[in-house]
Amino acid sequence: MLYQRSSALFKEAETVIPGGVNSPVRAFKAVGGTPIFAKSAKGAYVIDEDNRRYIDYISSWGPMILGHAYEPVVNAVIQKAKDGTSFGMPTEIETKIAQLAVKMVPNIDKIRFVNSGTEACMSAVRLARGYTSKDKIIKFAGCYHGHSDSFLIEAGSGAVTFGSPNSPGVTKGTAKDTLMAIYNDIESVKRLAEANKDGIACVIIEPVAGNMGCIPPTNEFLKDLRALCDQHQILLVFDEVMTGFRLAKGGVQELYNINADIVCFGKVIGGGLPVGAFAARNEIMEHLAPLGSVYQAGTLSGNPLAMAAGLAMLKTIDNDASLFKRLADKTEYLHKGCAEALEEHEIVHTINREGSMMSIHFSEDPVLDFKSAAKGNNDVFKKFFHGMLAEGVYLPPSAFESWFLNDALSYEDLDETIAAVWKVSKTLK
Ligand SMILES: *Cc1c(COP(=O)(O)O)cnc(C)c1O
Repeated sequence: MLYQRSSALFKEAETVIPGGVNSPVRAFKAVGGTPIFAKSAKGAYVIDEDNRRYIDYISSWGPMILGHAYEPVVNAVIQKAKDGTSFGMPTEIETKIAQLAVKMVPNIDKIRFVNSGTEACMSAVRLARGYTSKDKIIKFAGCYHGHSDSFLIEAGSGAVTFGSPNSPGVTKGTAKDTLMAIYNDIESVKRLAEANKDGIACVIIEPVAGNMGCIPPTNEFLKDLRALCDQHQILLVFDEVMTGFRLAKGGVQELYNINADIVCFGKVIGGGLPVGAFAARNEIMEHLAPLGSVYQAGTLSGNPLAMAAGLAMLKTIDNDASLFKRLADKTEYLHKGCAEALEEHEIVHTINREGSMMSIHFSEDPVLDFKSAAKGNNDVFKKFFHGMLAEGVYLPPSAFESWFLNDALSYEDLDETIAAVWKVSKTLK
């Protein structure tokens, strides 16, 4: 049996951890079968507990943009740990990483570090509400902003995969302040803005969506959204937890040349340790405690190990002028190779790609929003996923997730992946 030890470990885990996992999408519910337990990873590869090697396309769901166990990050953490792992006092390294982030990202003066993307988005919305003195927020169906109550309404990936877009435990009172718009459909936002004049604090968006598979914005959409927000005095919050430091040094703000009012970070910014952050111009950040009255705090926020990992990561990204070009080239190469194999075997598909993010939707129509993403054939996806896994390629175990490429992937790895797609394509009809 291929996954013998993983199966045994999963059974054991299930007895003491709900569903055997600490984050639902790891449980393979969407694709069936037993989750693979990771033992170690290096560069482009993950080794499982049965000593099988996989070419990895989840990159820990984004953070490992430079590959696993990237030495400068590992060494920075080891060094830092020797000086103590947490103090509850300010440390110099927090200022260092903040300075670098503020330099790399357009249109932000100050940044506050937290422990996860969820915390970053939750705090950004509180800040937007405090700053504008308005209550309602607009989010887009299929976008995921972490698991805090206000966002668990048509919330992409994990939530969608499990068919519980509205989680029990979220009160009606909370849900009523979250208004739902359609991705890439500016009219849907306009209607909400006009029906709720002077009531909307912010629009929060994944400026390139990754939690309903990869869905880039259309050319005009973000520009129109910026203009609409200005017209109605609504803050525009870019949730760049996935895209920040992945699609460009300055994220989607830089890539599409559009300024957001508040930007959220996570994933890459922590180099694989638990880090999130939110940032804005001074006039907005001044409202945050202890400067202002919008409260936000964290015992382990700005943790020295996490900051050391993040700083080593951002430094490398900042100093590597061709990183994003290399990643985009590799992704384009993989896209073309996959498309050729699927076309040759007449497998209905649509591939979306932006920078180092891509996904194969097993659906004929263009995938522009949640509705079109949901049309994908999940039976084909399941077969594809397990076929690729057996060939030693680890893809996200849900059709609603983006693939994340990392810089450690070689063209030989990509060719091996494409060869696997050719082989697996034969079995999909
Ligand atoms: C992953 C993700 C989050 C949540 O981050 P966590 O660290 O898992 O809490 C929020 N927004 C987006 C866009 C994400 O991809």
